[in-house]
Amino acid sequence: MDYTPRGLGDGAPLDHQELIGAPLRWPSEKALAERPSFGGRKAEEGAEHLGLVTVGALLEHLPRDRREARTVAALAAGEQATVVVEVRSISSRPVRRRGMRPLVEALVFDATGPLQVTFFNQPWLVKKYPPGTRLVLHGTYEARNRFRVSSHAPTADEIGAGDEVAHYPAAEGLSSTQILAVVREHLGAARLAPDPLPGRLRARHRLPDMPSALLAGHAGQLEPARQRLAFDELLYVQLDLLRRRSRRAEEVKAPQLPATDDGAQKGLVSEWIDQQLPFELTGDQERAVAVVLGDIARGHPMQRLLMGEVGSGKTVVALAAMLRAVENGHQAALMAPTETLANQHFATLQELMPGQAVPIALLTGSTPAARRRDLLGKLASGQLGILVGTHALIEDDVLFDRLAVVVVDEQHRFGVRQRTALDAKAAGPAGTAAPHVLHMTATPIPRTLALLGYGDLDVTELRELPKGREPIATHLASGERDRSRAYERIREELRAGRQAYVVCPLVEESDALAARAATAEYERLSADEFEDFTVALIHGQMPSAQKAEAMRSFKAGEVDVLVATTVIEVGVDVPNATVMLIENAERYGLSQLHQLRGRIGRGEHASVCICFGAKESERLTAFSTWNDGFKLAEVDLRIRGEGELTGTRQSGMAAFRFATMPEDGELLERARLSAREILELDPELQMAEHVPLREALERVRGSLLAIAIAA
Ligand code: ADP
Ligand code: MG
Repeated sequence: MDYTPRGLGDGAPLDHQELIGAPLRWPSEKALAERPSFGGRKAEEGAEHLGLVTVGALLEHLPRDRREARTVAALAAGEQATVVVEVRSISSRPVRRRGMRPLVEALVFDATGPLQVTFFNQPWLVKKYPPGTRLVLHGTYEARNRFRVSSHAPTADEIGAGDEVAHYPAAEGLSSTQILAVVREHLGAARLAPDPLPGRLRARHRLPDMPSALLAGHAGQLEPARQRLAFDELLYVQLDLLRRRSRRAEEVKAPQLPATDDGAQKGLVSEWIDQQLPFELTGDQERAVAVVLGDIARGHPMQRLLMGEVGSGKTVVALAAMLRAVENGHQAALMAPTETLANQHFATLQELMPGQAVPIALLTGSTPAARRRDLLGKLASGQLGILVGTHALIEDDVLFDRLAVVVVDEQHRFGVRQRTALDAKAAGPAGTAAPHVLHMTATPIPRTLALLGYGDLDVTELRELPKGREPIATHLASGERDRSRAYERIREELRAGRQAYVVCPLVEESDALAARAATAEYERLSADEFEDFTVALIHGQMPSAQKAEAMRSFKAGEVDVLVATTVIEVGVDVPNATVMLIENAERYGLSQLHQLRGRIGRGEHASVCICFGAKESERLTAFSTWNDGFKLAEVDLRIRGEGELTGTRQSGMAAFRFATMPEDGELLERARLSAREILELDPELQMAEHVPLREALERVRGSLLAIAIAA
């Protein structure tokens, strides 16, 4: 934040806090806007590099705590720690796989020994930290002398453990000690720092006022100071996101889709829920349906992300919205990333509305030409209410009459262009109206990321699983004894009339290799371990018709064991399948494992998942401990470090100055809540007590854009 003087007589009302014991406003701001002198060209350059161009900025340059610093020899596995080390060698590791992050690896040491450290996503560090550079590193120590760096700064100080001195992030030409000297000179100005937070908010969140925070920070009480500045930072981001969202919501129009219930005469959705839905909605489903129907009853486009565990029943919520469109004489579309998934949705939707007269159709790449022509005609004339399909839906000749609700399943699998192409089909003759969009995902996005990266989507979660579901027990296994026990366990289930999945090793390099491995395993298992049972095979290289037949026979119960590659990851719903064996489980990411496991535990019987893989793997341990996908996503984020998430957008979390994610998740929640409350009360931040906040927000706007993640 910079402290550009606001000038006199700008009419800005004073915060009463500033009147108590503070001198007049203008001298303080002048002092804060001054340029501190570091003495010498080199030091000035270093200061420029660190952004220490005003006294205000200097005072916000908080030291890091170093009392926590450990010696390399004293590091314990799995622990977060700070070390002070010197670089011996450093190099970047070439990226082999697509979607893999560039890594920089360095061998560093302190007086007690060497350490292998890894930096993620910052290839330039090879040049920035040549051998001989002294660094303060914060991160996680893993087994086998490896250290995963989450934050780093060069230091000019000597290497020494147990050093009590606070340490300022330094730069070339400007050491921590030099910074400390200049900070001491200007510390008095901290008393004058303006406080953007209304006193009410500070009191509620037990945050120090800005002057106290800065003074404390430089006096060695780092955590309270950092928290205060991190809170401000997160609040700005949330205010910015929420304001942008509400502006979009005000400007863009969408069809209003209210309930048409009229006394005893029920509308389509009410009728469907009361009469046709074959089960009771879970509490979460009920809430989500209410929220979604509320969204689409307004005249502005819904943009909601529905996150729900596999099997949590997202389709029901989507169907409610689609039926509401039909109820109002509009149309709805559901787009899924694969044909299997589209087929599955089509089947599920029909099961969910037995006897319902709503015209619904399926459109994929394999829809025969004649059928397609007929269907497109009905779509354009408005006879077809709901269209389910794959990318085939966004082709140019697919024209809707009155598209109002769009559902995108597994939304992260589509590109932005594909998602918006469907939106464009809703444009009316005037080209003004946008559809309501419900994005669905079973890849749980940690709340912290959801609040940041998806900040301009509304988020609804389905956490509760439908009644009568038994939790899945997950066992890690390795070695021959575990293996024969696992097969025996599977046979027990099969004898009890249940069904099983055997998931073959993931082969990254090629689908053909994966298919071969699955085929070999299929032959081995059907001849040997499961010779008394019916075994079928499914993999990505099989023709569609064969795949469909394998799925059909498994679903119909004609097949006991399905040997598969990861093609079964999504879109498979066989409640009678109660056991899954995953080979080489360590090759999968946590979210993928969780997706796989979601194929079982879908019915009334207890299920078991057996994973063959390295038992000491942190990921597999987490996987066997937690059934909750949200919990797993948080763990995944921690294990992988900031800035990476499978299949979702890159997070901008590394851009924060004071906050770190996911550790500051709770602070983020509070900031989100505060931002909401503030904007509800005062959408334009015009109230006297919000003026300093608005001004601070305007000043930091540029850097917020870097944090807010563009779609
Ligand atoms: P997902 O969230 O994984 O997309 P689905 O919507 O496909 O989940 O639902 C999974 C299965 O659970 C479907 O067979 C669906 O009919 C069933 N289901 C959904 N909601 C309920 C409920 N409230 N009670 C019982 N079964 C339900
Ligand atoms: Mg689904």
